[in-house]
Amino acid sequence: MFEEERSMMVRYQLMDRDIVDRRVLKAMEKVPRHLFMDESLWDRAYSDMALPIGEGQTISQPFMVAIMTELLELKGDEKVLEIGTGSGYQAAVLAELCREVYTIERIERLAQRTKRVFDELGYTNITLRVGDGTVGWPEEAPFDGIIVTAAAPEIPEVYIEQLSDGGRLVIPVGERYSQMLYKVERTKAGPLIYTSTPCVFVPLIGEHGWKEDQ
Ligand code: SAM
Repeated sequence: MFEEERSMMVRYQLMDRDIVDRRVLKAMEKVPRHLFMDESLWDRAYSDMALPIGEGQTISQPFMVAIMTELLELKGDEKVLEIGTGSGYQAAVLAELCREVYTIERIERLAQRTKRVFDELGYTNITLRVGDGTVGWPEEAPFDGIIVTAAAPEIPEVYIEQLSDGGRLVIPVGERYSQMLYKVERTKAGPLIYTSTPCVFVPLIGEHGWKEDQ
């Protein structure tokens, strides 16, 4: 279902905007994005926009999922941490591209629904937990990649600490309603920071993020 819409999404929203990683394009051609949202939104599931998933949260625009995933430079054998599970779509795309995905969501109701979707689709390499992702997942560190799908006021140091050497962190950082996407590579000489593209994400709320009432 929706195969043609998915192909068009990959071609016009991703390839035409210079997403070049063949593995990312293939994964996004495969993962049924519509199944990660309410059926009432299926007619817009492959359009060029973020969409509501309840609890005031969103499933990110396909292009943003693609560029963030591409920045992780996954080859297939990595262990990746995602902060902000939301609908689970980004985690599913990651699960197609690496060995293991650990993902944390702070809103229990979203996490419960998403866990059911992972089970229904047969994803066995995704581990989901409810909690404050701003502290990372120390028991499972180090990670080869960490992707944060909510916006932080600054780069939390704990994420860099939980990366393996050569590991990459992808994170939107900035003001409450507008941010810049960064890639941070952990090297023996210290973190290397690359600037990617402007973006708008819902806030990362927690100990090393925004406070609930900010
Ligand atoms: N990756 C998601 C997807 O594919 O649908 C999109 C995520 S949505 C833009 C951001 C998510 O981050 C929301 O579900 C929100 O509840 C969650 N979030 C915000 N702060 C968090 C925190 N400290 N720990 C875990 N999740 C958090």
